[in-house]
Amino acid sequence: MGVISLVQQMNLKILSAAIAFILLACQQTNLPECTKTDCNCSDFATQEEAQKVLDKFPKDPYGLDRDGNGVACQSLPRAKEKTNAPFQFVEPNPHLKFGNPSDANDKDLNNYLMKKPQYALSYNCDRRIPNWVSWQLNKTWLGSVDRSNDFRPDPGLPQSCYAVTPNDYRRSGYDRGHMTPSGDRTSNKEDNSATFLMTNIIPQSPPNNREVWRELETYSRELVDRGKELYIIAGWEGKQKAIAGKVTVPKYNWKVILILDKPGGKVTKTIGFWIPNDNSVARSDWKDYIVSVDDIERKTGYDFFSSVPKSIQSQIESQVYK
Ligand code: MN
Ligand code: MN
Repeated sequence: MGVISLVQQMNLKILSAAIAFILLACQQTNLPECTKTDCNCSDFATQEEAQKVLDKFPKDPYGLDRDGNGVACQSLPRAKEKTNAPFQFVEPNPHLKFGNPSDANDKDLNNYLMKKPQYALSYNCDRRIPNWVSWQLNKTWLGSVDRSNDFRPDPGLPQSCYAVTPNDYRRSGYDRGHMTPSGDRTSNKEDNSATFLMTNIIPQSPPNNREVWRELETYSRELVDRGKELYIIAGWEGKQKAIAGKVTVPKYNWKVILILDKPGGKVTKTIGFWIPNDNSVARSDWKDYIVSVDDIERKTGYDFFSSVPKSIQSQIESQVYK
């Protein structure tokens, strides 16, 4: 064996060791963020993702396999179910009856349309919050089911889009603010639980979520108690900051409501709200934030209620609700 081939052989050994090392390093960085602090089942969108962490840490320091049968987080959906997520197959979707304000679709990950039985939304994968969420509200959605409180990642997002976990909001100073309120989906457990998917959640300042926004939600249900049917769309505008690195905290929340005199009835009025998402709203009245829908269309570039005839749209959307 010549000197040259010996050197070549050694180089090969060094090279393969280096490759093995890089592969190991890559595997480490593929582990979810929570492994740096503490993981729990709500950090994962699927059982398979949790299983990866358990396989990596068989002593189960995070308590993902409490019954010790080797299967992590058995209550989570399986990846196979993920591709069969219900929103793909719900059509026509009542929550889009009066339009899709941003032409959300299944191609653009920052305007990604998700249709669920309980609401429809446009998701923004870069911002890690929905652009808007749209839902129908009438008496059929209201009952007496308790708040399920099962905040969790949305298994319906495409693989390439990070699924926000409830922990991403932990110690941020912001509330996990519902767009479709838990209180608007109380006729059965499944509907209520759907409002706790993180794709329906935006960071809200505590006085916004707990006071103004909540009072507005209560007012919407009062209109339903009086026999009306509502089509509500809620979203945000402007970036204040980010939490957990990448979840956008908006400067403003807005909401638009289309009021029908009765379920399936005549379009009567619209209401718009433009609310600062900060502490300045503490102890204020939700009525202070009423604006026209036209005003919100100008500020956001969206077209709300586009399936209402143009002449009626221009009439009702220019009014400031009283
Ligand atoms: Mn809320
Ligand atoms: Mn419009």
